[in-house]
Amino acid sequence: MMAMIRSSGILLGAHMSIVGGVSSAVRRAVSIGCTTFQMFVKNNNRWKGSPLTDQEVATYKELISKAMPGPVVVHDTYLINLAAIDASVLKKSVQTFRDELERCERLGVTFYNFHPGSHRGQGEREGIKRIAESLNLLHEQTPGYVVKSVLEATAGQGTAIGYRFEHLREIIDLVEQSSRMAVCIDTCHLFAAGYDISTERGYEKTFRDFEDIVGLERLAAFHLNDSKRELGSRVDRHDHIGKGKIGKKGFALLMNDPRFTAIPKILETPKGPDMKEDVENMRILKRMVRKNEQSAFAPSRLWRNGEQ
Ligand code: ZN
Ligand code: MN
Ligand code: MN
Repeated sequence: MMAMIRSSGILLGAHMSIVGGVSSAVRRAVSIGCTTFQMFVKNNNRWKGSPLTDQEVATYKELISKAMPGPVVVHDTYLINLAAIDASVLKKSVQTFRDELERCERLGVTFYNFHPGSHRGQGEREGIKRIAESLNLLHEQTPGYVVKSVLEATAGQGTAIGYRFEHLREIIDLVEQSSRMAVCIDTCHLFAAGYDISTERGYEKTFRDFEDIVGLERLAAFHLNDSKRELGSRVDRHDHIGKGKIGKKGFALLMNDPRFTAIPKILETPKGPDMKEDVENMRILKRMVRKNEQSAFAPSRLWRNGEQ
């Protein structure tokens, strides 16, 4: 397995459709050369999904062990809001989150990535508290789970929480089983939230702040998306790599940053069923990597295949 990672050099992939089942997502990812990928574990617009069959789980696991060197990231259902004020929405959110955590654990998924939540007028402070309370309940209900709960940094659209590193820090500080917590940085969200990673200076400052406030050891994954909207717009519109307001420079800095060699990098850019856009975006990113940076590879402390 590790030899495969070294030969491919970069942990790079994209979000894959689960039409045909979670095992089909692995096949799609492998077919375009992903060494890591993201998927949903059920229909992402519904509260409930049909259960995974033992057969599907077995097929998925076999494909992963044969052909997927890097970690798998699962993205949560869009309906979930762990900060919901409405009691029935909060209840459904927690139930669906738990169901998805269970699916992840059964499949051996490393990272469950979720949007922290939207406060819907109650204020950020209340929202942050509510998110942490929900996570404490969920972790209590799923003792000993290996899958990490991964907070995704947001663009801050509407009343979304998580557009400042401080929000992520505050949530983690309020979570009792904090060793289960990790963070995903989405480059489009980061830029839209006002962190200017398009210049060398802004890039260095952003990650210095991240290191000081959250800590690099919490970083589980990157979502690599360019941004259609300008710096600080707080509007979340993904664009193809190099085609948006971040531009190639920011991505080149990230692709060559030795701190992030072991961090999976996953595209969530617009695409059609033949995935040719993913192929092109991955080619652009791979070409940015300076050859001498590609070799040395060690899995991060947050994931080690075979040691889960
Ligand atoms: Zn997301
Ligand atoms: Mn994302
Ligand atoms: Mn987004």
